[in-house]
Amino acid sequence: MNPRHQLGILGGGQLGRMLGLAAAPLGLTCSFYEPSGSDCPAALLGPVMGDQEHSDEAVHAFLASADVFTYEFENIDIRLVERIAQHKPVYPGLESLRLTQNRLYEKSLFAELDIPTASWLAVNSRAELEAAMNTLGLPLVLKTTTQGYDGKGQFILRVPEDVTDAWQHLGANGPLIAEQFITFRREMSIIAVRDLQGHTATYPLTENVHLKGILSHSLTPAPEVSVAIEQTAVRYMDSLLTRLNHVGVLTLELFETDNGLLANEMAPRVHNSGHWSIEGALCSQFENHIRAVLGLPLGSTRCPRPTAMINLIGQPPERADILGLSGAHLHLYGKSPRPGRKLGHITLSADSHVELKQRMLDIAPYLPNPMALSA
Ligand code: AMP
Repeated sequence: MNPRHQLGILGGGQLGRMLGLAAAPLGLTCSFYEPSGSDCPAALLGPVMGDQEHSDEAVHAFLASADVFTYEFENIDIRLVERIAQHKPVYPGLESLRLTQNRLYEKSLFAELDIPTASWLAVNSRAELEAAMNTLGLPLVLKTTTQGYDGKGQFILRVPEDVTDAWQHLGANGPLIAEQFITFRREMSIIAVRDLQGHTATYPLTENVHLKGILSHSLTPAPEVSVAIEQTAVRYMDSLLTRLNHVGVLTLELFETDNGLLANEMAPRVHNSGHWSIEGALCSQFENHIRAVLGLPLGSTRCPRPTAMINLIGQPPERADILGLSGAHLHLYGKSPRPGRKLGHITLSADSHVELKQRMLDIAPYLPNPMALSA
């Protein structure tokens, strides 16, 4: 019989890979379920199994391969997770997964917990889209309720005539949600972890800059955050963690507006806006997720120095260029180049935000996507 692993991870992408990398120094090993095949970023860290049909054979092999299970991405077949949960522990639990798979459930949860969001309406027909436009005004953001990520499955309506294009674009994608367009000051996220006993630890607020719907770079701690904003974000996060009885990492994406914070969406998992924590926090989001789901004590989420994370999108940089810059940490995920694809990231720390900004400008000429920094 093959050796059993402590953690079985649904998904073998870069998040699975970084979870596997965080497990290794703790003497823990992982197996991965990745139907797209064994040529995936996590493959160097443990056995990869699974098939597109989720055959009994594949699911049983995965179940037998580990003691506790988690997932790297919420857009997975919940029936597969339910099958696993019938036999072995899966964290975060099914409630966290179900509610974060669908933007309508997520927005209803925010409303239940008095967490403000953009005004929104469910849209199931072109007539409902027109009604939403009249009620919420323009611009309007139309989104699919499921399977959206990195700005995919979205259409911004700016003039009434955009209804036809928007409906053509997304109308066939099942139930939709229309959201008021928010003119935010900036985007932020808060990442926290909750263990099996209900202890929590929260990372400082992170400022996130997106380009074309994809995260370009993050700064932690987010500069110039008022105490009131930080406390509000922590309060929203605490109420979500408790309500979901969440175990593991939870990420909440926020818009900072002139009238305070609005929740955008959440993810029951480690998140791109938390990659800075590998070098920038005393204990990374990946290690803390592993600690939480395996019943181990949580690590410190403290960020001793301002830290930036820069995504490498589409094309990788020259390794030597980045490694030639003192203190730059390079992470490449082993993925082949493709426009819009996240291939890796770079982490930089400094003694102040001013110095950090300068370090980001210094690195910009070596990036395949340097314009992101001047956004
Ligand atoms: P999402 O998939 O909901 O995270 O959206 C991707 C990106 O689109 C966000 O990070 C924002 O930059 C932008 N966005 C999403 N919803 C809105 C909104 N209601 N108003 C303005 N911008 C939005």
